[in-house]
Amino acid sequence: MNQLTKLEPVSYPRTIERIVNGVQASDGAGVKLTRILTQDLQQRLDPFLLLDVFRTDDPDDYVAGFPEHPHRGFETVTYMLAGRMRHRDSAGHEGLLQNGGVQWMTAGRGVLHSEMPEQENGVMEGFQLWLNLPARRKMIAPWYRDIPKDDIPGYVTSEGVTVRVIAGASNGVAGAMQREDTEPLYLDIDLPADSLFSTALPAAHNAFVYVYRGEITVGGTLLGEGRMAILANTPQSDGVVLISSGPAKAILVSGKPLGEPIMQHGPFVMNTKEEILQAIKDFRDGRLAAE
Ligand code: MN
Repeated sequence: MNQLTKLEPVSYPRTIERIVNGVQASDGAGVKLTRILTQDLQQRLDPFLLLDVFRTDDPDDYVAGFPEHPHRGFETVTYMLAGRMRHRDSAGHEGLLQNGGVQWMTAGRGVLHSEMPEQENGVMEGFQLWLNLPARRKMIAPWYRDIPKDDIPGYVTSEGVTVRVIAGASNGVAGAMQREDTEPLYLDIDLPADSLFSTALPAAHNAFVYVYRGEITVGGTLLGEGRMAILANTPQSDGVVLISSGPAKAILVSGKPLGEPIMQHGPFVMNTKEEILQAIKDFRDGRLAAE
């Protein structure tokens, strides 16, 4: 971890436009989760399509896992805080995602994959984020990378805030992943009591903060545990400032909007209805994940 003595200045911090509670959901073979970024927010939070949060110590909530299912047209980013999950896909990739690791998968023109827990007890906690691909790249070849905890760059501020930079760059530290079209920033921020954290953020990028421990003040508004704040795109804003009173943890996610039509049908996210019908047909015909 780099020690940072100085944070880049932020003069006009983002304010909160809206606080979102999410909805309880069940996916895969009955995995219980909270869907924080729901379909109705896809336009507002373009290029992000979904954020699922899972956190449970009850094996009944997760043991069934996510047996084989398809994806086409976007990327999935799974960040595992606690627990072990085995991934296998039709492109021949296999990996074990565990404590603090990230799995970045580009579905592109199509994968069939399974995400199954490799534990029968204990805590399972993490996030799955869906990141859109631009129209011209939706049908690229599938791609996959496992990023173990130790390979995720990070830094500690002079106030003791620990930041893990999963994607993008923050306060001069480049993250594990970079994406040209959507320029995603994905930070995991661990704030001790009575600390302040700031990072630069382009005003036009859509951004949200999700608090997963404690509470944090963002743009003068208190954001509680399990809540997501959609940050306002005020034209003069140049960053975001988070302030803690007690210990708190949050993820901060932002990206450059694609500004293209979004057409989702379950695990397929394309631009038009015709492309969705084609994806369904390809899946039925066993050609979704064909070479
Ligand atoms: Mn999946």
